[in-house]
Amino acid sequence: MELLIETLSKQYSNGVQALNNVSLHIPQGMFGLLGPNGAGKSTLMRTIATLQKADSGSITWGELNILEQQEEMRKVLGYLPQEFGVYPRVSAEMMLDHIARLKGLSNRKERNETVSALLQKVNLYKERKRNLGTYSGGMKQRFGIAQALIGNPKILIVDEPTAGLDPAERNRFYNLLSEIGESTIVILSTHIVEDVKTLCKQFAIICSGEVMYVGTPHDAVKTL
Ligand code: ADP
Ligand code: ADP
Repeated sequence: MELLIETLSKQYSNGVQALNNVSLHIPQGMFGLLGPNGAGKSTLMRTIATLQKADSGSITWGELNILEQQEEMRKVLGYLPQEFGVYPRVSAEMMLDHIARLKGLSNRKERNETVSALLQKVNLYKERKRNLGTYSGGMKQRFGIAQALIGNPKILIVDEPTAGLDPAERNRFYNLLSEIGESTIVILSTHIVEDVKTLCKQFAIICSGEVMYVGTPHDAVKTL
């Protein structure tokens, strides 16, 4: 089921037009949002994640209207913001357990199974007892993905996740996202062309709040 974004616009109170009539149809799999800093990517992603409102336009996923049914939408969404803090003195395992409990997984056994499966999926099971403050940048990002995957989202939104990762970590992260993209809509924002070429079936180029291109990386070779 596609995520349909129609004529979305947002102007901030300082007059910046962050989104100007953005329309995108996002199918299952990896979808890239490529654009320079200030293009409007985070604004678009925060709007999809129900964290802020647009001035006009709509976002729908099947019967769900994201801008009107935020509670329902949050149940099917996972969001990894561009910068997220971790509690340095808490282990990955404890933190995931805590979040899973907050999300309503009250059965201890089920919760343990969910947390173990997620730690294995992001390849942090061996490091699960380590405090998050000792994690490298790449490990932290993979932990963030595990956190965003609690509750089995159908739509995963990741904002500039590969910035600052070394090539080995970036590859590990690509593999993880590709696997998730087999069963989920994954929207990835990035200013790194390589991210889009390696990962995305389709992508859009966004500049000054406007969609300049939508298509496959293959067709975009001339544009890039
Ligand atoms: P809105 O128009 O959605 O009400 P505001 O202008 O009130 O947004 O700003 C919301 C928050 O974003 C404030 O905390 C503000 O400090 C921060 N902010 C303001 N300008 C910028 C900017 N250019 N880029 C990123 N964040 C900003
Ligand atoms: P990107 O994620 O592509 O870097 P953003 O969505 O963060 O782009 O920003 C788009 C434009 O909106 C920029 O000009 C930015 O400075 C401005 N902006 C972002 N957040 C706010 C805010 N809260 N208040 C005012 N301006 C903002």
